[in-house]
Amino acid sequence: MALIVHKYGGTSMGSPERIRNVAKRVAKWARAGHQMVVVPSAMSGETNRLLGLAKELAPSKSSAAYTRELDMLAATGEQASSALLAIALQAEGMESVSYAGWQVPIKTNSAFTKARIESIDDDRVRADLAAGKVVVITGFQGVDEEANITTLGRGGSDTSAVAVAAAMKASECLIYTDVDGVYTTDPRVVPEARRLQTVSFEEMLEMASLGSKVLQIRSVEFAGKYKVPLRVLSSFTPWDIDINEEAKSGTLITFEEDEKMEQAVVSGIAFNRDEAKVSVLGVPDKPGIAYHILGAVADANIEVDVIIQNISKDGKTDFSFTVHRGEYARTVELLNTKVLPSLGAAEVVGDTKICKVSIVGIGMRSHVGVASKMFRSLSEEGINIQMISTSEIKTSVVIDEKYMELAVRALHKAFDLDQPVS
Ligand code: ADP
Ligand code: ASP
Ligand code: MG
Repeated sequence: MALIVHKYGGTSMGSPERIRNVAKRVAKWARAGHQMVVVPSAMSGETNRLLGLAKELAPSKSSAAYTRELDMLAATGEQASSALLAIALQAEGMESVSYAGWQVPIKTNSAFTKARIESIDDDRVRADLAAGKVVVITGFQGVDEEANITTLGRGGSDTSAVAVAAAMKASECLIYTDVDGVYTTDPRVVPEARRLQTVSFEEMLEMASLGSKVLQIRSVEFAGKYKVPLRVLSSFTPWDIDINEEAKSGTLITFEEDEKMEQAVVSGIAFNRDEAKVSVLGVPDKPGIAYHILGAVADANIEVDVIIQNISKDGKTDFSFTVHRGEYARTVELLNTKVLPSLGAAEVVGDTKICKVSIVGIGMRSHVGVASKMFRSLSEEGINIQMISTSEIKTSVVIDEKYMELAVRALHKAFDLDQPVS
């Protein structure tokens, strides 16, 4: 008998019919002798609906008083879906109980809308499992030291599930979603994308951080830290398929580099449209400039991603970096009011219509010419590269947003990702 955690995303929980299907599937696993903990997301569209209502009443602000209420509000989506799932499980003849994050409790810090899990007390859940119940735990939320409800960032139910699996030393955490695994790129953008049978933890971490929203990045971090066996699979297969077949389906996140993975130089392509570019033009080229600009940005708690500094001409240079689009206006204002006057720079310009496209693969460590192949294939499509950033297992480029799909498709083809692995 194993302890297994299942997580079901919003689409998988999207209607009473789908919730009934989830309940039937979970009941099948429980009847096969497993102790089951289930972590659902809110029904699809619900989190957006709730946050939209808040926005109607007051545009987003970053004050803690406001974000506290956003979390109080958004957490109700998962509370509703969890109770519905427990009801559906009971209707299937299973004993079941649901808990909100604060009831477990899942303790977090107080960073509303992006809280981090600090600890999980599993006594109550273990007692229910021992009594033969299926336990449903709300995804996406926790509670801080002052008993405020917190949420873990969009897509955070993945993280709740993996954290619960880690805390309870579950045998496996299965992430059920609306695709049947992790693909070479988002199959919505490239229909020829291929499902990966396995993907290394490091590659998954890069893909998630570079924009593949199939798993929230923090869930991958948790899985790596606590070595949680993690699998992504479809909730849309018939609920009564053979359980052994189901247990082997989808994509397994692996912690060892096997031979097959070594062969694939590029395993996947990720993209994201969430960033904006800011450039400070005519900066005096002298020591301390990067610190002067980025120090002020960091002090304002704004995260910076790709950075480039151009070569100087006549003692002046241009300095560009990207930030989250939501922080763009604040960054430009900060630079204009706080940095430009003391720096003697000419002006700040920006572009919100950019995207970042990345190729990811642990094989890049041992192969040369991968980045140049990427640049060639983009140039053949007439796509101009604005910025480049690399690490051992990824190369990212910042390009005009309007070329995003073209770039992803061209790279997918150039690296033979549509071809079956030999
Ligand atoms: P859930 O509601 O189940 O959490 P998400 O919408 O968060 O589902 O994540 C699943 C979606 O992630 C898929 O529908 C797909 O469009 C998208 N996606 C992006 N990149 C990938 C990828 N490399 N492989 C699979 N799906 C991906
Ligand atoms: N319901 C939350 C969201 O839409 C969390 C999740 O689905 O993982 O972001
Ligand atoms: Mg998700």
